[in-house]
Amino acid sequence: MREKYLLHCPGCGRPFPDRYTLDCPSGCDALLRTVYRERRLILQDLPGIFRYASWLPVEGRLRIDAGPVSYTSIGLARELGLPDLTITFSGYWPERGGRMETCSFKELEAQPTVLRLREKGAGVLQISSAGNTGRAFCQASALTGAPVVVVVPASAADRLWTTVPSPNVCLVTVDGDYSDSIAFGREVCSLPGIVPEGGAKNVARRDGMGTVMLDGTLFAGRLPDAYFQAVGSGTGAIAAWEAAERLIADGRFGSRLPELHLSQNLPFVPMVRAWEAGRRTIVAEDMPDAEASIARVSADVLTNRHPPWGVRGGVRDALAASGGRVYAVTNGAARSAGRLFADTEEIGLDPAAAVAVASLIRAVEEGLIGPDEHILLNVTGGGYQRAAEDLDRYPVEPSLRVRAGEAFAGDLRDAVRGWLAEREVAVRA
Ligand SMILES: *Cc1c(COP(=O)(O)O)cnc(C)c1O
Ligand SMILES: [Zn+2]
Repeated sequence: MREKYLLHCPGCGRPFPDRYTLDCPSGCDALLRTVYRERRLILQDLPGIFRYASWLPVEGRLRIDAGPVSYTSIGLARELGLPDLTITFSGYWPERGGRMETCSFKELEAQPTVLRLREKGAGVLQISSAGNTGRAFCQASALTGAPVVVVVPASAADRLWTTVPSPNVCLVTVDGDYSDSIAFGREVCSLPGIVPEGGAKNVARRDGMGTVMLDGTLFAGRLPDAYFQAVGSGTGAIAAWEAAERLIADGRFGSRLPELHLSQNLPFVPMVRAWEAGRRTIVAEDMPDAEASIARVSADVLTNRHPPWGVRGGVRDALAASGGRVYAVTNGAARSAGRLFADTEEIGLDPAAAVAVASLIRAVEEGLIGPDEHILLNVTGGGYQRAAEDLDRYPVEPSLRVRAGEAFAGDLRDAVRGWLAEREVAVRA
């Protein structure tokens, strides 16, 4: 194959070129995957995630130096009796080389996604996210100038900030909940020139997040026996599985898939329940009192109601293929795990990363992993305190405010078209 990569549908087996394609052209219910020409991972002499550019669905690079950083744990490892514990950290921690200034691994997704879209000439990205994803895309826009449309519930707008000004973000706040902003975001994508980011279907998102598995494996010289991560959509876990399969095909890092140890935060644990019940789809009884449960978790980035669970190539397949496990973690267990981590590793965690640490503690207590195993802990976010001390913080100001259920028409539509036109994006309709 001449191209750097092709997309491949695990449903019908067809390969095809990438046009920022999110779905199989034949309509299969499957996550498309990238297939790279280079089966052996060739490292690039570049900072951040572009070190792994040969396995990212982009041709060029961005001048951003943020990427995952891996190191051998001493403090936490000793505490848990795990001599072979690699921590891969995504967040702000300059002493260790951690330069994700919005403090979560969503930056791993935002960077290649912005570049992929630019290279495919497909338009302007639209993102609906109330948390780390929205902030990561605002930051990528601030650093690259790429225009993005971000739609969030009004109550969450204060979570969107960047460390440099972001003049090319169109922030729309919706007077409603997260589902209302998703619905409005979908309508905004009816405007020619605006493209949905795509979530788990976006191969740039998954391959960007997969650099955690690449970095941890390259650092240790081998694939881990077990991989720990807290999951909301589970996209990061699918990405870890896919990256591990590529590393196996590379041939230098081992031949066994790492067991995926995935955790959610009680009382909202739909994937834990669906897995334990052996269900292919997530049903209402996996999310009793969804709204009230979501309000009670400490790590609300883990509260996705529609994760890519049963789709071919989704989270359930990843767990099954790897012989993985799931954990339901209480707020209390997450809090004390976060404290232990801060005491032993000397950096503060995102509440979601604390959930993953709690699952690791539980796995040790229950003898599910042992001291002879090589463990990779994906610390998906942290360093907020450090970032607040060191860096400037610019709140992203809303461009538009809409009511829940308001139609994307008339003045609203004109306002977004005007915003696009100012950025010289061709809008024909
Ligand atoms: C989004 C997020 C997660 C969960 O990742 P998924 O890919 O959605 O499962 C975990 N930790 C942090 C800090 C996050 O921002
Ligand atoms: Zn197909």
